[in-house]
Amino acid sequence: MIRQDVDLSRANTLGLPCRAERFLATDDIATTRDALRQAVKRDWPLTVLGGGSNLVLQPWLPGLALQPSFADLRFEEVGEGDVLVHAGAGLNWHALVEALAAKELWGIENLSLIPGHVGAAPIQNIGAYGVELADVLERVYLLHLEDGREAVFDREECGFGYRDSVFKHALENRVVITRLVLRVSTRAQPRLDYGDLAARLPAKPSASDVVAAVSAVRREKLPDPTVLGNAGSFFKNPVVANEQAKALLAKHADMPHFPLADGGVKLAAGWLIDQCGLKGLRERHVGIHERQALVLVHHGGGSAGELLALAQRVVDKVQARFGVTLEREPRLMGRKAR
Ligand SMILES: Cc1cc2nc3c(=O)[nH]c(=O)nc-3n(C[C@H](O)[C@H](O)[C@H](O)COP(=O)(O)OP(=O)(O)OC[C@H]3O[C@@H](n4cnc5c(N)ncnc54)[C@H](O)[C@@H]3O)c2cc1C
Repeated sequence: MIRQDVDLSRANTLGLPCRAERFLATDDIATTRDALRQAVKRDWPLTVLGGGSNLVLQPWLPGLALQPSFADLRFEEVGEGDVLVHAGAGLNWHALVEALAAKELWGIENLSLIPGHVGAAPIQNIGAYGVELADVLERVYLLHLEDGREAVFDREECGFGYRDSVFKHALENRVVITRLVLRVSTRAQPRLDYGDLAARLPAKPSASDVVAAVSAVRREKLPDPTVLGNAGSFFKNPVVANEQAKALLAKHADMPHFPLADGGVKLAAGWLIDQCGLKGLRERHVGIHERQALVLVHHGGGSAGELLALAQRVVDKVQARFGVTLEREPRLMGRKAR
């Protein structure tokens, strides 16, 4: 049932105040299609919500906010130790990681403790600790928002890149993902060459050991959104031309930099912000996390406007000091007022 004037302040991990004009959580294709039809007929703007961990919500979300809650989970053995996992978009991502690890199925254990729902994982090709969704994704089932028609995308069609996919470009805000199919394996294949993961684990770790180790490292480094409002990394790591990277390195020899295959150089946004002396900054209700300069936090009682003003200050400072433009990672949704 579509509800009216719904409070979303607990449905986004930044904890920003927001009300949706209309809201529908649904685990049924027919109901979803019916809602899409109504929205198109009545000209309601449509927004798809997952767990709200990669969003900046402004106070008013007009139209219809749709939250897929498909929670089906099925395993299909396909030979040679490979298993296809059919997972509904509404499942909690970390719960899925734990469920696979408990069955000693390998593939997504390094993606532990990433907040949010399964259906959002392809949007920015979630990644951590040397693994990204694209490594295991087989198919995406979705409905087009404009007419409710179903489509199945294979990995190629998703156009995955670093924290990127076709769902952030040609299909941005044009589809609702209902289910993913992941290819995982019963064969142990730990990927531990990232950070100090290997040092925290026995020689032959189980998948659950890896989940526990990754979760422990993440808890040490990142604020828990249930305790302190945040949306994870607030800025993307910027990519600059090789010449600009060389010029910056001439002045800042210790600047972290990662040359890319296309000739560009990826810089660490957190390091750039930290160098501007902004780590730990607090401005009224919002601030920059004291251990992680890439994470903007909401201490409570603030608004999207305050957070965006702080983000702009960060962008301006980094631009002035390094000539590098930072881009926001979480998606901005809604309006300032009804
Ligand atoms: C503490 C913290 C740590 C994080 N760490 C990482 C990390 O290590 N790696 C990483 O990649 N990300 C990380 N993130 C970001 C975030 O968890 C991921 O982007 C996650 O996939 C977002 O899921 P969500 O369900 O919360 O999506 P939402 O924030 O609800 O939505 C994000 C986008 O996806 C769209 N969307 C959501 N569900 C669907 C659907 N079913 N169909 C179509 N579109 C949909 C929305 O419209 C929106 O554009 C972190 C966030 C936090 C708060």
